Amino acid sequence: MSYKNFPMVPRVVFGRGSFNQLSEILASKRLNVHAPFVFLVDDVFKGKAWLSSRIPIAYDDKIIYISANEEPKTSQVDSLVEDIILTSRQGTSGVVGIGGGTLLDLAKAVAIMLTNEGEAKDYQGWDLVKNPAIYHVGIPTISGTGAEVSRTTVLTGPEKKLGINSDFTPFDQVILDPELTKEVPTDQWFYTGMDCYIHCVESLNGTYLNAFSQSYGDIAMHLCKEIFLNDAISETESQDKLMMASWHGGMSIAYSQVGVAHAMSYGMSYLLGTKHGIGNCIVFNQLEEFYPEEVKLFKEMKRKHHITIPKGICANLDDSEFDIMINISLSLEPLWENAVGKNWKKIITRDKLKELYQKM
Ligand code: NAD
Ligand code: ZN
Repeated sequence: MSYKNFPMVPRVVFGRGSFNQLSEILASKRLNVHAPFVFLVDDVFKGKAWLSSRIPIAYDDKIIYISANEEPKTSQVDSLVEDIILTSRQGTSGVVGIGGGTLLDLAKAVAIMLTNEGEAKDYQGWDLVKNPAIYHVGIPTISGTGAEVSRTTVLTGPEKKLGINSDFTPFDQVILDPELTKEVPTDQWFYTGMDCYIHCVESLNGTYLNAFSQSYGDIAMHLCKEIFLNDAISETESQDKLMMASWHGGMSIAYSQVGVAHAMSYGMSYLLGTKHGIGNCIVFNQLEEFYPEEVKLFKEMKRKHHITIPKGICANLDDSEFDIMINISLSLEPLWENAVGKNWKKIITRDKLKELYQKM
């Protein structure tokens, strides 16, 4: 038996207003005045001076605004890397991702591809990256995915939606400033927040559970209940706690695995482009038979915050489309093994998945 030797984010700042320390943090990492920092920033912040004017650009540094309407693609990573190489002939000092899971994953992937040959799609999988990434910093502006702590960056490629899982993927530095999440719309807050809740549910109910994962999962679960069900919590407290829940939820699955909701939502997202947070909610809403208590609680949270989950998104699909979703989903074997156990293939048949997808 050999145990995972898990890399962790070596440096983290936490606190409201800590974003202001970015300049000082980057200064010591600048290679030379011609090697810029590249800031990949969610374009929701374009023109929002309270954030954009505080991005500490100096010398040849660049801000690239990117839409998070679609999840990151391998081709998008490749073209960003090409642009950066062309315009920074003396190297790049670092990549800073500012945004949700989409921007954080893009920043991780770009940092890796700046030092590794070929195309991003060549590295989708486990431990395929050869060279350390360049210095990269993650600054979440919405909480829940755990992308700020994870050793993966989830990309949609020509053949699959799969992460670049490697020891070089985690950020060198994370800045957790809950104030940055202040304008997240309620629906999106809920969807991405539920990603964290679902990470906890899938980790804590999985066959891979161990004391490491459980310790982080229990804390994240406790925080989620407080955030999504307790009336007494203030807005700032809720922002602070969700940021830490996301962190712990991410740490919990690092040493276990996710489960049914993720396995099915990956298939859905590959075919229909459904985004991770909302896709997980659409799936989880129909998973009573796997997670009875937890789905009940999810429905309570949903009611409490007046959230509607889209329905019927698989209603008009044909058999070949169901097959695509089912193939992607079934290919995620560790997720099923974690969720259902070693004999999962007896329970999770193609018909079973189709029947579930049809409800969504
Ligand atoms: P996101 O980054 O896709 O953003 C969702 C929406 O919220 C976007 O419209 C964005 O513009 C908006 N937004 C973000 N911050 C905002 C703010 N402060 N104010 C107003 N609007 C804001 O959302 P997400 O749910 O954090 O990330 C989903 C992505 O994360 C998916 O691509 C998924 O694959 C990935 N993911 C990665 C990991 C990992 O470990 N690497 C884990 C889970 C999910
Ligand atoms: Zn997730």
